[in-house]
Amino acid sequence: MSATLVDPQDKYHSDGFVEQPQEWPGLQREMKPVPDCGEDSYVGTGRLGGRRALVTGGDSGIGRAAAIAFAREGARVAINYHPREQADADDLKEVLDREGLELLQFPGDLTDEAFCLKVVDDARAQLGGLDLLVINAGYQQAQKSIEDISHEQFDRTMKTNVYAMFWMSKRAAESMPAGSAIINTASVNSFNPVEELLDYATTKGAIEIFTKGLAKQLATKGIRVNAVAPGPVWTPLQISGGQLEGKIGQFGQDTPIGRAGQPAELAGLYVTLAEPGNSFTTGSVFGANGGTGVV
Ligand code: NAD
Ligand code: MG
Repeated sequence: MSATLVDPQDKYHSDGFVEQPQEWPGLQREMKPVPDCGEDSYVGTGRLGGRRALVTGGDSGIGRAAAIAFAREGARVAINYHPREQADADDLKEVLDREGLELLQFPGDLTDEAFCLKVVDDARAQLGGLDLLVINAGYQQAQKSIEDISHEQFDRTMKTNVYAMFWMSKRAAESMPAGSAIINTASVNSFNPVEELLDYATTKGAIEIFTKGLAKQLATKGIRVNAVAPGPVWTPLQISGGQLEGKIGQFGQDTPIGRAGQPAELAGLYVTLAEPGNSFTTGSVFGANGGTGVV
């Protein structure tokens, strides 16, 4: 058998994009092109057999790519998403249904502490346990200046990206068995803030440090905590307020690889951080950014 070599420069759409604003949170089924989450490409080999996973923001983008990969690697998978994203969540369910793979759906708003605790408890109950938690939901609204960031926006960005991570990982860690993994989604903004993402970048910096600190605490429980730090990836987050007007056309074109990433290209990192073979890897952040050199 010989490996098929593929040039990453032209493996996916590399022509830039048309402006296509959507109301937050955006649906990926309406995007042009529709983000590639590995629906037709990810092949599992049993790396997560018997695992029980909850993925936030699992309806679309990076979380959806992780959910597809986990399911095809043998895990039982539950996703959370905002109720306005039911259509994307149902599309994903259909993809997995066709393969005889189950997907549990837990819609609800993660800015609410009570809901965050409930979704962890409900997922654990319905999956028959919980040993893999991907905290991936995120809120990003670009603003030119600090003067344009309202109290409400700052608060929502903090609640979604930082508080929900705190509430959910605290609740999950109480009962996760040794061998479990928590995976957060950080960003290149964790290390080098994009000027117009001040509030968002602040939360991504917090996620990076929280990941490293929690890994130290949970090491003695046998729970690993890591993060993936993406660069520009083609997802609904970007076209529903995540970029300033006029910036979508060239989104991701300035990476050394010359294009934006697709969610499918990150799925393998989440699987790697989840699987038991990488048992010495904890408290680390792994980049996927097309070569920008940030992480
Ligand atoms: P996405 O829009 O597909 O996913 C974000 C998800 O967050 C939404 O699908 C939604 O389900 C969830 N969400 C947001 N607010 C919520 C709320 N109040 N309640 C419940 N769910 C809520 O976009 P994505 O790019 O795949 O984002 C996933 C993660 O990747 C985010 O943490 C984002 O910050 C991070 N990230 C993305 C990029 C990129 O370029 N796309 C780069 C770096 C980091
Ligand atoms: Mg979505």
